[in-house]
Amino acid sequence: MILVTGGAGYIGSHTCVELIEAGYDVLVLDNLSNSSRESIHRVEQLTGKSISFIEGDVRNGDILNVLFNTHPIDAVIHFAGLKSVGESCENPIFYYENNIECTLKLIQAMQDAGVKNLVFSSSATVYGDPQRLPLTEDMPLSATNPYGRSKLIIEDMLRDLPNADRLNQAAQPWSVTLLRYFNPVGAHKSGLIGEDPNGIPNNLMPFISQTAIGKRECLSVFGGDYDTVDGTGVRDYIHVVDLAKGHVKAVDKLLSENGIDGVQAFNLGTGHGLSVLELVNAFKDCNQVDVPYQISGRRPGDVAACYADVSRARDELGWQAELGVRDMVKDSWRWQSRNPEGYSDIMM
Ligand code: NAD
Ligand code: UDP
Repeated sequence: MILVTGGAGYIGSHTCVELIEAGYDVLVLDNLSNSSRESIHRVEQLTGKSISFIEGDVRNGDILNVLFNTHPIDAVIHFAGLKSVGESCENPIFYYENNIECTLKLIQAMQDAGVKNLVFSSSATVYGDPQRLPLTEDMPLSATNPYGRSKLIIEDMLRDLPNADRLNQAAQPWSVTLLRYFNPVGAHKSGLIGEDPNGIPNNLMPFISQTAIGKRECLSVFGGDYDTVDGTGVRDYIHVVDLAKGHVKAVDKLLSENGIDGVQAFNLGTGHGLSVLELVNAFKDCNQVDVPYQISGRRPGDVAACYADVSRARDELGWQAELGVRDMVKDSWRWQSRNPEGYSDIMM
C-alpha cells in the first residue's frame, strides 16, 4: 500500500489514478486546504476502485502514527505542501511552517514505523537561475524565493538521512527519490480530474484556459524581450499524466530488488522548451478558441528559459514523457470547458 500525502490535489489525484491502474492500493492523507473531496470521488469513478481517504494534517504526528500502525504501508509519496511562489514571498513563515513541518513529522513517523521508502515532490525551482541548459540533476542548487527554499531545505534534510543510517549501521536504510518537476500542465483525458486553482491563477496554463472560457479578459504575457525564440519565456511543460506515471516508476524502483541507495534526484520534464506564445498558439489552434493576450513587463524573479535533461529518469527509472503539446492543450481545455468552476461544478 502507498500512502499519498496531498493526494486530493492536482498532481496527487492524477498519481492516485496511475497507482491504482498499476495495481497499488492507495491511502490518501490530505487536509483539503487546497483541494476538494470531490477529486477523490472522481478518481474512484475513473478507476472503479474505492480509496481510503483520511482528512487530516500531515503535521499531526498522532494521525501519522495511527496510519502507519493500522495500514500495511510500503512507501510514501509526499505531495502535501503549499506551492505559490507569490504567497510564499508574502508569508514565508507560513510556508516554512507548513512545508518543512509536514516533512519532519512524516519522516519521524516513517522512521518509527520502519517504513523508509519515500518519494518527495521537489521542483525545478531548486536550480535557481540556471547557468547552463538543459538542466542536469548534478547542477548547483539555489533558491530565489521562500517556496523554492522550502524545497531546497527539505531536499537537504532528506540527504542527511542516509548519512545517519551509515553512522548508525541501520539494518534497514532510507531510500529516497526526489522528483524535480518542471512545469506540470494538462489533465486526465476523461475530463474528470484536473487543476482547480483558487482565485486568479498564477500559472500560465490555467490562466490561458480561464481566458479562453471568458473568466479572464486577457492574458498578460510576462516579457517579450527575453533572449529566446520569440522573446517570451521558455519552459519545459510536462503533461500531468506523464508526471503521474513517473511517480509509479519511482515507486516501482524503490520497492524493487535494486532500489534506490540513499537519496537520488530525477528531473521529470520532456526535455524540450516551449515559449509562452508557442503554448498560447498551440492552445488556440488545437482547440479552435480565442485567447486574447497582450505583452506586458517581465515578472520579477522569472528566468528566460528552463528545460530539463531527462536522461537520468529515462536510464534509471525507465520513464519518459509520451504526451506532447497537443495533448497538453486539448486535455487542459476539456477539463476547463467541462468544469468551468472546477470541482464546485456538478458534472455535465
Ligand atoms: P496542490 O495544491 O493541488 O496539492 C497539494 C495538496 O496538499 C492539496 O490537496 C492540499 O490540500 C494538501 N496539503 C497542503 N498542506 C497540507 C498539510 N499540512 N496536510 C495535509 N495536506 C496538505 O498542488 P500540486 O500542484 O498537486 O503539487 C503537489 C506537490 O508538487 C507540492 O508539494 C508542490 O510544491 C509540488 N510541485 C508542484 C508544481 C506545480 O507546478 N504544480 C511544480 C513543482 C512541484
Ligand atoms: N506567464 C505569463 N503570464 C501568466 C503566467 C505565466 O506570461 O499569466 C509566463 C511566465 O513568465 C513563464 C511561463 O509563463 O515564462 C510559465 O510560468 P508559470 O507561472 O506557469 O510557471 P513557472 O515556470 O514560473 O514556475
